[in-house]
Amino acid sequence: MARPVDVPALVAGVRDGRRAAVARAITLVESTLPAHRAAARELLEAVAVPGSLSSTRVGISGVPGVGKSTFIEALGTRLTAQGHRVGVLAVDPSSVRSGGSVLGDKTRMLKLAADPHAYIRPSPAAGTLGGVARATTQAMLVLEAAGYDVVLVETVGVGQSEVTVAGMVDTFCFLTLARTGDQLQGIKKGILEIADVIAVNKADGELLGESRGAARELSGALRMVYRGSERWIPPVLTCSALEESGVDEVWAEIARHRDHLGPEGLTHKRAGQQLDFMWALVRDELSERLRRSPGVTAIRDEVRAAVLAGQLAAPLAADRILAAYDADQR
Ligand code: GDP
Repeated sequence: MARPVDVPALVAGVRDGRRAAVARAITLVESTLPAHRAAARELLEAVAVPGSLSSTRVGISGVPGVGKSTFIEALGTRLTAQGHRVGVLAVDPSSVRSGGSVLGDKTRMLKLAADPHAYIRPSPAAGTLGGVARATTQAMLVLEAAGYDVVLVETVGVGQSEVTVAGMVDTFCFLTLARTGDQLQGIKKGILEIADVIAVNKADGELLGESRGAARELSGALRMVYRGSERWIPPVLTCSALEESGVDEVWAEIARHRDHLGPEGLTHKRAGQQLDFMWALVRDELSERLRRSPGVTAIRDEVRAAVLAGQLAAPLAADRILAAYDADQR
């Protein structure tokens, strides 16, 4: 039996910005225990300020090794020095699959981790990507309630997790390298569609010239692709997270993107994200119910064997599964 949660005390602690309370609140919203989920809802209802645009939510993405944590460390410490309070969250698809993690490494971002005005939380360790996204979205609300006005959500550049993170932030920033092998083709088309700001990192030392060239090339290509359209054309910058050069410029472009949206655009964007999030939660819950359905459990192995043996066509098999599920509801 889970210990009952003192929600009002937790709410007060979060509002005061107490780190221990923030940590406990995030653990609560990450929990999948039914008792915790009820308490988490109560907590979020008490702390969330609907319609508030006071925080800046930014996604930071790129392949492992591109320099995400170095960049976040450089950006985060600059922002806290300017008086911001910075929260860092992570959506790590490797932790979803294996329980291991690419992003969770405790030795990363040492300076920012020690900064009293920053709060770093590794990716929730398990569950589905949907579950991790739900936890992260709610952790973001906790951080905002605790006074963190900039929330950076880090994710690794592998497909669906980036789309997921793009769906929870105001501005999505993609880090890349000059030497991605085949230059433009090295960046998946899907990324360009969701990126609001692109930065070619490691623009230092002998890679400086090549990085600037790559940025120019990509910038030109993007302008061609979007020529004549009204949409925001992602700017392409160079930076060196290691030498902390160009980092302010990337932040300035993030701010410019936010200005471009304007309060109305941002409200609209966040409302759309809420709607998508609602359906994602519904789908998540439905697949969970499907998994728990006694009727489905009773026939699952048999149907699976029949499909694998080629004796039952997939559409018919799906009908049988759904019929078993529906029968449970009656
Ligand atoms: P992540 O996996 O994307 O989080 O990448 P890290 O931030 O851990 O960086 C991977 C490696 O690249 C580390 O050895 C960093 O020191 C190095 N690195 C990160 N940013 C830069 C940069 O701007 N220039 C150079 N030369 N190296 C960098």
